[in-house]
Amino acid sequence: MKNRADIGIIGGSGLYEFFDKGEWIHVDTDYGKPSDQVFLSNYAGKRVAFLPRHGRGHKIAPHKINYRANIQAFKDLGVGVIIAPTAVGSLQSHIKRGDFVLCDDFVDRTWGRENTFFDKDKVIHISSADCYCDSLRDLALSSCRDIGVNVHPSGVAVVVQGPRFSGAAESRWFTSMGWDVVNMTQYPENVLAREAEICYLNISLVTDYDVGLIGEKGIEAVSFDEVVKVFGENIEKLKKVILGIIDNVPDGYSCDQCHDALKGAGA
Ligand SMILES: [Zn+2]
Repeated sequence: MKNRADIGIIGGSGLYEFFDKGEWIHVDTDYGKPSDQVFLSNYAGKRVAFLPRHGRGHKIAPHKINYRANIQAFKDLGVGVIIAPTAVGSLQSHIKRGDFVLCDDFVDRTWGRENTFFDKDKVIHISSADCYCDSLRDLALSSCRDIGVNVHPSGVAVVVQGPRFSGAAESRWFTSMGWDVVNMTQYPENVLAREAEICYLNISLVTDYDVGLIGEKGIEAVSFDEVVKVFGENIEKLKKVILGIIDNVPDGYSCDQCHDALKGAGA
């Protein structure tokens, strides 16, 4: 049978495997190799593809990820929905460790990343104002509430270049702007999914407070080991939330917001 999938999951820091049953398949794309092989499985009558964003064993730093190959790999498999969990730091004291945030907007602070599929013989200008799928956020919100996790239905992610964490002044600036969480990988994954006309859902798992909040109310500094530890503590909840979403994505799902994203963009 030709390899295909309905739903794709891009696993973040601390999430390198998802299903027990299935098979790893080798995938290559016009944009090179994705971060790892893709794990194909069946769940709730759907074909689900899983790809670890940093590769198994966390080998690829955020600025080195081939985001285009990762999205194209899913596109080639026929994926119409991408569920993309990420570990994030909180920029606001009311967004606490272990909370989930369903981001609906972003600020790009990265540089030098390949961030478009349209850099050859065609000029395309997509809107990135709505690259997070609203329908999927609704499904995710229900699933989070069913599981009983503390969830924020929307949020702005600042995407920094990494691999370093933010400086204190940078972090205080992000907080003062009212932005919610900070991460290193949501961009350009989100806009590439939009260019590929695939629904994109981010589930941000808050692993710690960012450095600008350190010192407030006894908040302590972040280390990568700590990020992975908190992510690990919440991984079972995250998996349940994702399975709940997959359960509730209707068969033959189509989305006006995302599946026609290139309409009117010059395509
Ligand atoms: Zn959508």
